[in-house]
Amino acid sequence: MSQSVPGRIAIVTGAARGIGEAIALRLAADGLAVAVVDLDEGACANTVTAIHDAGGSAVAIGADVADPAQVTAAVERVTAELGAPTVLVNNAGVLRDNLLFKMTEDDWDTVMAVHLRGAFLFSRAVQKHMVDAGFGRIVSLSSTSALGNRGQANYAAAKAGIQGFTKTLAIELGKFGITANAVAPGFIVTDMTRATAARIGVDFADFEKATVGTIPVARAGRPEDVAHTVSFLASEGAGFVSGQVIYVAGGPKD
Ligand code: NAP
Repeated sequence: MSQSVPGRIAIVTGAARGIGEAIALRLAADGLAVAVVDLDEGACANTVTAIHDAGGSAVAIGADVADPAQVTAAVERVTAELGAPTVLVNNAGVLRDNLLFKMTEDDWDTVMAVHLRGAFLFSRAVQKHMVDAGFGRIVSLSSTSALGNRGQANYAAAKAGIQGFTKTLAIELGKFGITANAVAPGFIVTDMTRATAARIGVDFADFEKATVGTIPVARAGRPEDVAHTVSFLASEGAGFVSGQVIYVAGGPKD
């Protein structure tokens, strides 16, 4: 069932694949026009085609979320081609995992740039449209890693930062009808988790089986599990839910 208001315009970053793709498809199914943003515009084609095939509206936009000029240009394009965006999903992400003693400055800076600077730049760029509309929904991807995870000092710090950023946006922007929330997934099967298994030298099926053994609902998460939660937070009816972190992890984490 559609939860969001038809006619609204959403931006989903990192939407060429994985969780971002599922979020873009879900918001389009909810009736929103969706700007599918990723580093490589061409890589967004699958997501955009799937939305068009289902009868929805979407446009592919190439942008590096960490680059202010590209973010400004992306939001201008969305506004010109779809309309003023009032839903933003900060989903783009990268991993540069390493134990602290092996972590490079580049590992640290890259993760901070994509997750934290990217969420900051896009939120800053779209908030004026949300203020003008008297309505806005900002949903940013955190992670259970925010609670601490071996080999992810950079990623854990960025994902914990997303939570503080979210709560602050909720406080600053609430009076304009804008909510800000974070979704914190646990283990979701995507290229990112496949890359993690490869990095630690474990067969993905074994990695998944071992991880599922620690999940109360006894299954791996799917991108659609995250998209369902984002759909709720982006909906008109969720206007009294703000500054929250919702764990989508198959059981308690916090
Ligand atoms: P994914 O499959 O690796 O997809 C991430 C997408 O973000 C890719 O399309 C990537 O493009 C894009 N991206 C990377 N850097 C970018 C940049 N600077 N500008 C624009 N786009 C950029 O990851 P995922 O598993 O779907 O994860 C999506 C989000 O959920 C991330 O924020 C991640 O941290 C979070 N999360 C995932 C899990 C999980 O278990 N999978 C758990 C908790 C949280 P390229 O392909 O060109 O690099």
